[in-house]
Amino acid sequence: MTRFLDVPATSKLIAQIGVPRCLSELVDALEADYRRWADFDKSPRVACHSRDGVIELMPVADSKLFAFKYVNGHPVNAQRGLHTVMAFGALGDVDTGYPVLLAELTLTTALRTAATSVMAAKRLARPDARTMALIGNGAQSEFQAIGFHTLLGIDEIRVFDIDAQATDKLVRNLAAFPRLKIVHARSTADAVRGADIVTTVTADKANATIVTPEMIEPGMHLNAVGGDCPGKTELHESVVRMGRVIVEYEPQSRIEGEIQQLPADFPVTEFWRVLQGEVPGRESASQVTIFDSVGFALEDYSALRYLYERAMQYGVGDDISLIPPAADPKNLFALIGGHTPAAPASPVASVVEAVVLAD
Ligand code: NAD
Repeated sequence: MTRFLDVPATSKLIAQIGVPRCLSELVDALEADYRRWADFDKSPRVACHSRDGVIELMPVADSKLFAFKYVNGHPVNAQRGLHTVMAFGALGDVDTGYPVLLAELTLTTALRTAATSVMAAKRLARPDARTMALIGNGAQSEFQAIGFHTLLGIDEIRVFDIDAQATDKLVRNLAAFPRLKIVHARSTADAVRGADIVTTVTADKANATIVTPEMIEPGMHLNAVGGDCPGKTELHESVVRMGRVIVEYEPQSRIEGEIQQLPADFPVTEFWRVLQGEVPGRESASQVTIFDSVGFALEDYSALRYLYERAMQYGVGDDISLIPPAADPKNLFALIGGHTPAAPASPVASVVEAVVLAD
């Protein structure tokens, strides 16, 4: 059987664990998998672009598990009362091809994206960073704020969005964190002034210039999350040239990241090299660092692996018959009229369970 986690089941699971702990455990899962970078069969995601958005497939695999995510990006959806980003995905057993998990990934993407931002900032932001500007206060923003507050010691967040209602919602949702000071900024420049970290998580299908060169101060860490498609960026081109740029997976980031604005030989560093200690993270207190985040399939592999492990541990989700019973594999026709043999317990699910839980 395949474990199925829909939105209510995933929400229940995350509420049981708690968002701060969930983010912390996801950072651990991400770091464990990024440390095994060479073990993965990687490729840039496949994207189908349309006038208002994009729908993408993101596959990745190691020798044991295959993962994929379906995800869209439609900034215009906000005006239609729909989500900008929606996702679901699956985890499969490489030995047999058997799908062991089918899960919602909209909520999970917000968690994994925040955990990825934290993982990068741990190595790239100044250790004494305490203030963060948060530009774009939509669906992703609470998760970014909670991650940086609870895991990196950020105690002041300066918030700005062109939609004041989005900012009000963010502030309401963060009320559960009384030690986090929230400052309402009047503009992006106002929010960024004096901030140690600048997180941009806006949605606009355009080469936007949310952050411009005169806003940059020595020692800042930029966590640029919202630019993640061809023709969709957030940093002025000159801003990208002002810092040391760290990317997830270079072949994908050259197409989708802030660096799409720069020549193909503009120097960037893949994050796994920093994590493995091959190259340093931040090199000096005054250096400007830029995490040019686009979202890479390996992060969804980590999130799916983590979800599966916790779903089994907490007994959350349902087992569904996504695949026909294997009692008589050559008699598929039996499913639609012939004699259907009784299904034995699948040996595959228990094998994969052992693999995932052992990691
Ligand atoms: P959302 O639509 O819920 O929120 C986006 C917010 O940005 C909105 O409130 C909007 O008013 C605001 N905004 C737009 N232009 C702005 C501007 N010029 N200044 C200030 N605010 C502005 O979307 P979301 O789900 O929060 O996603 C945000 C962005 O992050 C999207 O572009 C999405 O594609 C991207 N994203 C990236 C990753 C990644 O891994 N890098 C993962 C998830 C989402």
